[in-house]
Amino acid sequence: MFFLREPDSNSDRKRRKPIPDSLRHELILRCKGRCELCGLDFYKAGITPEIHHKDGNPRNNKPSNLIVLCPNCHTKVQRALEKTKKTERRRSKRKEVSPLDVLKEVEDSILDRLEDIDRKFSDLF
Ligand SMILES: [Zn+2]
Repeated sequence: MFFLREPDSNSDRKRRKPIPDSLRHELILRCKGRCELCGLDFYKAGITPEIHHKDGNPRNNKPSNLIVLCPNCHTKVQRALEKTKKTERRRSKRKEVSPLDVLKEVEDSILDRLEDIDRKFSDLF
């Protein structure tokens, strides 16, 4: 069986709402034991899956806000999110940016990544 751990759970324990085991189970079933971004098989790779909050809010534990990632993809998504946040901060001096816009940008970068993987895959054949 898989054990999902949340990164930063030590540094962020007070604010972070723990993800109940039943929800972890639901997520692992949903992703079929694979990274939802690159499709890496956690079991075969001997890797601990990580749960990412798409909106960056650790208290929003709705399944639609959660994505199961390998540590590699999680780092990339986190970086993209941080970059987006920085851009947002810069922009917010000029105009208001809604959290939905930020989420859209993160999703766009995930889609870019998926297209990238698709391309690499089709190169193989
Ligand atoms: Zn991955």
